[in-house]
Amino acid sequence: MEKINFSRDIDIRYKTEILVCGGGPSGIAAAVTAARQEKDVTIVDMNFSLGGAGTVGMVPAFMQFSDGENFLADGIGREILNRLEKAGGTGGFRKNAINTEVLKRVYDDMVTEAEIKTILGVSIIGVEKDKNNISHVILSGKSGIYAIESKIFIDCTGDGDVCAKAGAPFEYGDENGEVMPGTLCSFWTDIEWDKVDGRQDRMLKEAFKEDIFTTHDLHLTGISRSGKTFGGGNIGHAFGINPLDEVSLTNAFIEQRKILLEYQEYYRRFLNGFSKVNLAGTASIMGIRESRRIMGDYVLCLKDFQNRAIFDDEIGRYCYPVDIHASNPDEEGFKKFEEEYKKNFKYNKGESYGIPYRILLPKTLDNVLMAGRCISCDRYLMGSIRVMPGCYITGQAAGMASSMAIEENITPREINVKKLQKKLIEIGAYLPNYKGEK
Ligand SMILES: Cc1cc2nc3c(=O)[nH]c(=O)nc-3n(C[C@H](O)[C@H](O)[C@H](O)COP(=O)(O)OP(=O)(O)OC[C@H]3O[C@@H](n4cnc5c(N)ncnc54)[C@H](O)[C@@H]3O)c2cc1C
Repeated sequence: MEKINFSRDIDIRYKTEILVCGGGPSGIAAAVTAARQEKDVTIVDMNFSLGGAGTVGMVPAFMQFSDGENFLADGIGREILNRLEKAGGTGGFRKNAINTEVLKRVYDDMVTEAEIKTILGVSIIGVEKDKNNISHVILSGKSGIYAIESKIFIDCTGDGDVCAKAGAPFEYGDENGEVMPGTLCSFWTDIEWDKVDGRQDRMLKEAFKEDIFTTHDLHLTGISRSGKTFGGGNIGHAFGINPLDEVSLTNAFIEQRKILLEYQEYYRRFLNGFSKVNLAGTASIMGIRESRRIMGDYVLCLKDFQNRAIFDDEIGRYCYPVDIHASNPDEEGFKKFEEEYKKNFKYNKGESYGIPYRILLPKTLDNVLMAGRCISCDRYLMGSIRVMPGCYITGQAAGMASSMAIEENITPREINVKKLQKKLIEIGAYLPNYKGEK
């Protein structure tokens, strides 16, 4: 490809102690936790709402916060759930349902109360680095291109953009380089919820016979009730997507906006309670389940899930099953998903795996932490920990660890992990294996 040289002097417009890159569930948890420790925190995001996939992406429900006996995503996770409920944002029908508009305001309130400098509508387009330390993140917004200087950076971009731009090693997708399909989440009105019965995928095969669908996709998560007559849709799959390429994303948006009309016909014709259902809106970002996993000091893996692992340096525990949506819409892939999710890699009540602090530390970087979907794990574990309560757990820990590093003027790798665990317990984290400070 032909190239041009692009070089400019740009302003270092802000200086901060901790820069949280990405304002999804992990970013919110990290920023609020660090700011409550009286650190100077800035959070940036390319969208004009905080919340990432859970708000702008219109994901309509939280997965489990608890293992059935213990509230695992405790501390900030519990607080967010309670605040959402109090603000009327769970729809009043199911505690885990999300009214995404209300959740946006809950997050706005939390960053405002914690006095976090919040800059929305800015894309991270580069980093400046000195050996193993990032010195600046380069951003592009409506006002132009500028830099933010920080002592610690927390990569909460979901895709691990900051670590990747700083040259950290990562893994992407499965052994063939394929990732889980994306989903364009949606908003549906005019549902008669009192008439709705049974699984929403139960008539798919009948509908396939009637040629309603362009793709015969057996995996339908469905519409979750989030209000009296409306609901949020986690419907349709954008197969073959490359989440790191805007042309691929553009094509997926165009395709999925059409495909959702096929689902509208399916719901109207085949399912009780949906005869008048209307597709009222679609998200303005694609729901991305998988992209980069940045390699850290430890890689959390399937064996750890199977062993219900306990780690000396654990910063939380989690329990959601391995949920890997098939990369292709064939029966074989769907069968594999069902076996993993419903049988092979699913816990009983009270079971969970430990989350070691080391998976938040990118191997080749010293002043960077990561949290959320891009942390260091294999594909199976990412299929579990990627959901929002999991992101609150890792975000909270990254926020607290960054605050300790600032206080002691050391790197996140050098902090005393027992002290971190103690501080996390003080703010409500669930750490049943904590044995006290050495
Ligand atoms: C279709 C779908 C359905 C799901 N269903 C559920 C569910 O039912 N329950 C559940 O709990 N979880 C669910 N999840 C998982 C969950 O929503 C995500 O995995 C979770 O939001 C990841 O959190 P995060 O903070 O790591 O990243 P994200 O939520 O992706 O947030 C990352 C943020 O970083 C910003 N960002 C990224 N790159 C840049 C950049 N270069 N510059 C500036 N900003 C940037 C983005 O704008 C975004 O706001 C679902 C996910 C998808 C895609």
